[in-house]
Amino acid sequence: MRWKSEPELVEVPEPTPGPAQVVVRIGGAGACHSDLHLMDEFEPGTLPWNPPFTLGHENAGWVHALGDGVTHLAVGQPVAVYGAWGCGFCARCRVGVDAYCENPAEAPVPSGGGGLGLDGGMSEYELVPDARHVVALPEGLDPADAAPLTDAGLTPYHAIRRSRHRLVPGSTAVVIGVGGLGHVGVQILKATTATRVIAVDTRAEALELAQKYGADLTVLSGDTAAEQIREATGGLGADLVLDFVGADATLRLGALAARMVSDLTIVGIAGGTLPVSFFGIPYEMSVTTTYWGSRPELVEVLDLGARGLVRPQTTRFALEDALSAYRQMREKTLLGRAVIVP
Ligand code: NAD
Ligand code: ZN
Repeated sequence: MRWKSEPELVEVPEPTPGPAQVVVRIGGAGACHSDLHLMDEFEPGTLPWNPPFTLGHENAGWVHALGDGVTHLAVGQPVAVYGAWGCGFCARCRVGVDAYCENPAEAPVPSGGGGLGLDGGMSEYELVPDARHVVALPEGLDPADAAPLTDAGLTPYHAIRRSRHRLVPGSTAVVIGVGGLGHVGVQILKATTATRVIAVDTRAEALELAQKYGADLTVLSGDTAAEQIREATGGLGADLVLDFVGADATLRLGALAARMVSDLTIVGIAGGTLPVSFFGIPYEMSVTTTYWGSRPELVEVLDLGARGLVRPQTTRFALEDALSAYRQMREKTLLGRAVIVP
């Protein structure tokens, strides 16, 4: 890919693994809305890395080749790739949260990974620069189905887990944006908490999807959405709002729909802003962003996937058709997650 242009399909050499590295034969690479932000919006200099590189930061497949010293994996074994590649030695990386690596200059790419500055998984093979990022798939998970779990699953999982103390029986969580991440977020809330789930989207089909996965109430995004959420919560508001869009309008909706003593968690990177002032937001509403998740959390998400408790709805596309997957996402005709199968 390049900035401000459509990605192109090109021939690249098959990678060979160096010491401690792994080459994964890709079984599926999810197409994330973040890729659209990359190709549509970012300018050179916004991020600490630049194209060209192969897209695809949501990957699973089979071990293809092992570098010297990698002993915990076997060729042919089904695996998922943890996508945020940090330095490996800082306080964050040591506990598996490479997404928040504090030593980015020592990472394979600063604050990125495969498909984010380095070559990713929309290709037959992906070179993973450190074997610790290659996680064995549990029994019962096909790589093409597992791929979305590494981002569309892991990112909402992390955002939900950090607020789990709020998600007691009687609580309410609001999911704004029931796309790739949001429809998995609904499933994770239902599978791991007793909270009531309210899903919000601009598309009726997305709300139907949320309902299919157990949302207790669905609300069309718009001027009356906050009022409907307050009404449905006895006037109190939601204990957790997960904003998988992150635009001005959805942040405003989130703040209007939130309860006192709550979390408003911004996951979507639409770039909106929220004015925060003493009387402008509910008392003790915390506003936070989250970025991706940790390696231990990925293992937990894969377990949910293998046990059928969380199953992303996927549409598969051949590598040659990857552009049409992005086009459908841009035109909002895609439901769930697109997975590119090379
Ligand atoms: P997607 O395109 O699959 O889904 C977005 C959904 O939001 C769609 O269903 C769309 O109809 C809905 N939507 C759009 N505007 C809305 C509005 N005003 N109100 C309610 N719903 C609205 O996107 P995705 O791949 O799920 O990604 C969602 C966002 O999360 C993107 O901004 C992406 O870049 C970001 N993201 C963040 C992280 C992170 O770590 N923070 C990780 C992955 C993706
Ligand atoms: Zn680090």
